[in-house]
Amino acid sequence: MGVTRADEGTDVRMQKAVSAVAGVALALAMLPAGAAPPTGPERPSVGSPGIGDPYFPQYGNGGYRIGHYDVGVAFDPATERLTGDTIVTGRATQRLTRFNLDLVLRASSVWVNGMPARFRHTGRELVVTPRTALREGQRMQVRVVYAGVPEDVTDDGIKPWFTTPDGAVAVGEPEIAAWWFPSNDHPADKATFDVDLTVPRGLQALSNGRLVGVDRADGQATWRWTSGAPMATYLAFAAFGRYDMVQGSTESGRPFLNAFAKSLNPRVDRAARVSIRRTGEVTDFLARTWGRYPFQQIGGVVTSRNFGFALENQTRPVYSPAFFSSGRNTSIVVHEMAHQWFGNAVTVRRWKNIWLNEGFATYSEWLWAQDQGFETTDEQFDRFYDNFGTKDSFWNIPIGNPGPRRLFTGAVYDRGAMTVHALGEEVGHETLRRIGRHWVHRNADGVGSTAEFIALAERLSGRRLGAFFRNWLFSGEKPPRPPT
Ligand SMILES: [Zn+2]
Repeated sequence: MGVTRADEGTDVRMQKAVSAVAGVALALAMLPAGAAPPTGPERPSVGSPGIGDPYFPQYGNGGYRIGHYDVGVAFDPATERLTGDTIVTGRATQRLTRFNLDLVLRASSVWVNGMPARFRHTGRELVVTPRTALREGQRMQVRVVYAGVPEDVTDDGIKPWFTTPDGAVAVGEPEIAAWWFPSNDHPADKATFDVDLTVPRGLQALSNGRLVGVDRADGQATWRWTSGAPMATYLAFAAFGRYDMVQGSTESGRPFLNAFAKSLNPRVDRAARVSIRRTGEVTDFLARTWGRYPFQQIGGVVTSRNFGFALENQTRPVYSPAFFSSGRNTSIVVHEMAHQWFGNAVTVRRWKNIWLNEGFATYSEWLWAQDQGFETTDEQFDRFYDNFGTKDSFWNIPIGNPGPRRLFTGAVYDRGAMTVHALGEEVGHETLRRIGRHWVHRNADGVGSTAEFIALAERLSGRRLGAFFRNWLFSGEKPPRPPT
């Protein structure tokens, strides 16, 4: 995620996260009344309402893994109503008499393996009771038919959905999926996606990956998108409205698809196009640095509404127009494309690992600036290091465990980038490069944690780095300057 400077001070996430913590009580309340957790040979048969992330106890679910989402939604900008018919396919990891999906819109029917199932809603949880229990290891295909006005749904004080004058945008981190499709909404369970978006004819509907085709019938158009590489639920997006789409192939042969809201101010539109046109060049630069680009498609979407951030949606980041209101901005393109390696190919196992995303994305901006003949990475590091004295509150946030309210606070980005640079000073920048490449490509399509990253850095550098990472990630004080 990239945050516009104007929004950096007002931490909108704070309010969100505070209410998300209230989810603990709800999660506990959902255990069977009066039932002690089974012990011994008696195995639990109810899937848990959370995947086990201490920052967001309600996010994701337990008892199964999803392999594929077949998302089908229709959106009518006139009524702002979304109707959905989505099939999720996965496998039970335990016996399941009952399990949850995350969905804030109301379901009208649910089938499990072709049989109608009972269901009820509790907050963002859709609680499903299949007619017959699922066996451990059994394939499960869950079809949910649902509808609602996402704009009207606030859950625990959170409403990540954005409407625009001619449509809407589903984009957000860490939450958005529950506002448009039922899911196991946590980055630790990635899956492939087919997304069909139906809109009134004359509008466009955008998502991740490859555009398979557009089916037009009865005044409607269905835009069919496919993502063959596993993707975290928060990285899936949908944008509905009037967009100018630009498709082609970059000089190095990468297929791209960009889209610009037709109602953009002409000056912003021009700056956005000039910046996003460089996505191919940026991708080539990042591939030279961090290894092969992990996906097939590239692109960018600029919406008509300022929603306060840009997000690294897999293969096709979505940008607020504010990023281009003062002219061209390649840094934000570098940031969001660097996340395709750090965040999208290898995804955080738990949300507290967020510095692995934001630190490497911000450090990649430093590398790009250096490559373009601006400040060197040393100069950028020094600027932050010298600017923030030992007493500055900048150092108070241990970015390796920043807390759910501070996932996207400035220090996670800037101290994160400094940590990456300092690691290069410590082990050598060639070794840092190898660590980064191994990290992405060994874990591609999967997830990783800070502890796993530290273990890899120690292995590839042949150094013990416990004290280094304690100082840079887990201390509330200014770390010693790295040796030069
Ligand atoms: Zn970011």
